[in-house]
Amino acid sequence: MKRDRNVKIVATLGPASNDYEVIRALHEAGADVFRLNMSHGDHSEIAARHAIIRQIEVDLGRPIAILADLQGPKLRCGVFANDEGHDLEDGATFRFDLDDTPGDASRVQLPHKEIFDALEPGATLLVNDGKIRVKVLECGADFAKCEVLAGGRISNRKGVNVPDVVLPLAALSDKDRKDLEFVCELGVDWLALSFVQRPEDVAEARDLAKGRAAILSKIEKPAAVTNFEAILDASDGIMVARGDLGVECPVQAVPPIQKRLVRKCRNAAKPVIVATQMLESMIESPMPTRAEVSDVAAAIYEGADAVMLSAESAAGDYPIEAVTTMNNVAEEVESDPTYRDIIEASRGGDKETVADAIVSAAREIAETTNIKLICCFSESGSTAALTARERPSVPILALTSRMAIARRMCLTWGCHCVKVGSVGRFKEAVVSAVRAATTENLADKSDLIVVTAGVPFGQSGSTNILRIAPCDERLIYASELE
Ligand code: PGA
Ligand code: MN
Repeated sequence: MKRDRNVKIVATLGPASNDYEVIRALHEAGADVFRLNMSHGDHSEIAARHAIIRQIEVDLGRPIAILADLQGPKLRCGVFANDEGHDLEDGATFRFDLDDTPGDASRVQLPHKEIFDALEPGATLLVNDGKIRVKVLECGADFAKCEVLAGGRISNRKGVNVPDVVLPLAALSDKDRKDLEFVCELGVDWLALSFVQRPEDVAEARDLAKGRAAILSKIEKPAAVTNFEAILDASDGIMVARGDLGVECPVQAVPPIQKRLVRKCRNAAKPVIVATQMLESMIESPMPTRAEVSDVAAAIYEGADAVMLSAESAAGDYPIEAVTTMNNVAEEVESDPTYRDIIEASRGGDKETVADAIVSAAREIAETTNIKLICCFSESGSTAALTARERPSVPILALTSRMAIARRMCLTWGCHCVKVGSVGRFKEAVVSAVRAATTENLADKSDLIVVTAGVPFGQSGSTNILRIAPCDERLIYASELE
């Protein structure tokens, strides 16, 4: 199955997309990557969804990436004596403390000692997705007395955000560590880390993952925006997690942050997902709003690797329609000549190595002539990522002998990934590229293709050959090519 677009679609699974038929329909409608949200669902449900995706992979013969999203240090208040909670009025005082007695209209537990250690008078706390805003007047080792600046309803276990303070919280809770081990053993391809604050948080997860999955950092804290370069350097990919980011930062700060992060990720040749509320109204409606369509389109024009659906595909009434909508928007945007102009004008990043030069030459050659396809042998995926950074106007066929890499690359812009047998000589590589190109319907016998590879084979990052070849096996066998 070949997509008529380069941007990838990530669909979150949940109660609305739990069985083989729906998940397969989501994949056929356009979902390239499935996200398993570890904040919801127990291990047996996660394992069941994982098994269904791997079965679909076998049935359709295409690699599919699975991204497990760890909950991270999400802060929540305790419970109240009544179920409804309480309406906090503007100007009232309200207290958070460590006491687990059920709360009332004047106080509630906040069972995170680290917060009280880090708080200072004047700091802001946000409750219930930022709907309630309070300012700390006075605080100690086990309490914070606050003034309500923007009131609203507080109730059992509502989320609490502390935007102004770098919290001395462990990046991974005990639950995250258990979840990480569980999903790595299941065999997911990507781990997403929530509420990353520093590059050390990423390093900690990488130590635990031990190469079993690539690491994607969710940027949803102001501290992560400030430390972005170092976090990007430590990560294999990034998510612009606009939900929490828009709570922790002023909402109007989110679009410029999104633009800046997308550009930096492209320059670094690492995939970036734009996430949250992309087609929010489609949770309940078969039709998106005009503004949502524009938001999805904007992320694609910016050059994001992937756009994501959250509740729209996990818990909404129209999961398949939501994927179809994203797919249609992507095809429309990418066929717009202005899209190509924008993508060309924003090409950047350091070019220093032989591989950098080869991938840029491959794009030039394909675009100057009428060559249909760039085929790149990439054992580790790094040359495929560099080719994607070029954002060529012809498709990229990413060939690797490692299924884990073929799956991982499903998140990268434009990469049509195929697992092939390992090759020993360049001639074999070209034959393998020709076979993959024709079976995947990316080129036919009368076409020319560009093939890049690193010789000798088996060393990653060693791309040093570029060859223009006829897409015809017999001609290659007959050629002088070694
Ligand atoms: P979440 O992350 O859906 O896990 O909260 C995404 C976001 O915050 O945007
Ligand atoms: Mn979040």
